[in-house]
Order: sequence, then C-alpha cells, then structure tokens
Amino acid sequence: MRLTVFLGAPGSGKGTQAKMLSQRERFVHLSTGDILRNAIKEGTLLGKEAKTFMDKGELVPDSTMIGLIKDTLSQLKPNQHVLLDGFPRTVAQAEALNSNPTTQVEQAILFEIADPLLIERLTGRRVCKQCGQPFHMKHIPSRKEGVCDLCGGQVVQRSDDHEDVVRRRLEIFHSQNKGLVDYYSEKQKLKRINVDQPADSVQKILMELLK
Ligand code: AMP
Repeated sequence: MRLTVFLGAPGSGKGTQAKMLSQRERFVHLSTGDILRNAIKEGTLLGKEAKTFMDKGELVPDSTMIGLIKDTLSQLKPNQHVLLDGFPRTVAQAEALNSNPTTQVEQAILFEIADPLLIERLTGRRVCKQCGQPFHMKHIPSRKEGVCDLCGGQVVQRSDDHEDVVRRRLEIFHSQNKGLVDYYSEKQKLKRINVDQPADSVQKILMELLK
C-alpha cells in the first residue's frame, strides 16, 4: 500500500484537495474526521465517544484513533494509494503507522497558510450533509442557499466550525503540529505547499508531488 499523509491546520484544504484528487485519479481519500462524523450520524459507540471531544474541538484519544485507522487500512487492497487526511494528528499516531511494515508513509505534505485566513475559511465553510461536498458562504456558495449543487442535499455548517471551537482547534493544531513536522523532516519525508493560492494551482502542485 502507498501512503501519503496530508498535514495542515483545519481549513487548510486537505479534505477538498484529497476529494478532488480521488475524483480524478485512482487515489483513496481517507478522512478520519469524515469517518468519525459518519459514526456520530449512525449513533455507534465510536460516534458517541468521539462526539464529546469533537464538539469541544479536542482530539479523540490516540488509542481510539490508532485502532480505527488500523482497522480501516486493513480493509483496503494492498496496491492502493491512500491519501490520509486528518491522520496522524500526534507523534504517537505517526509512530503507530511507522511500527507496521505495511503502513509506511511515503511522504508527508504540509499545507501551509496563516491563521487569520483559516478562521475566515472555516467559519464560512458549509458542507452537504448527504454527499460531503464542501462550499463556502463567500467564495464557493451553492447556487441555491442551503441546497447542494451536486446531490440536492441540505448544506449546513459543521458544529465544530463555529468561531470559538475553530480557535480551540487551531490552538490544538499548533501544539501538535511541530512534533509531526520534526518527525517527518528527520525521516526526510516532509514536503511543504503554500496553500494561500487557488485550489486548482494547489491541485497541480500536488499532482506533481504524487506522481
Ligand atoms: P477534521 O474533519 O479532520 O477537522 O476532524 C474533525 C475532528 O475529528 C477533530 O477536531 C478531532 O476532534 C477529530 N479527529 C479527526 N481525526 C483525528 C485524529 N487523527 N486524532 C484525534 N482526533 C481526530
């Protein structure tokens, strides 16, 4: 299995880019945030545990997340190229991937952008409840307010995209990210992209890195 990790703050566009790539190329987009949100929707035990942390913008404990990612990856075919979006979030999670020969990370791509831009992106972000298509109130509004252009589903704000939770998520991101950046730099696997540019330009750079 080929594994590429997308690192970067919430709102830096990891999910949008991974979704675009998996629609046009044969990548598998794996978002731990999406898996947890589905678990909450379905009312599973995992969902109940995760919700208490997610509502506050806190991280779900490593033991839960490591178990979840191992299970999910073990169900994929060995020849697939997986884009990991939202995992690892801590060095312990990165070490868990590294401890298994079948889940070695090929490269870690860091999406870089300043905090004020992230706050604007996140608080304006909307998402289709049904298909997950992302929108933005100002930059990419749906044609009809509250209705998804793709599937007609309801377009809503994620509960953790409210400003107070966004600020907490960014604080946690900064406290964990340096460790991850050092971890992958030391292994010479870190690449950086400035993502304060149009999504299509970011996509082109990513395609080159992922060749
Ligand atoms: P995301 O959609 O990636 O922004 O994730 C939304 C929320 O899910 C995060 O704020 C965390 O509460 C939780 N979460 C997602 N991935 C992880 C992870 N790898 N470790 C811990 N918590 C996570």
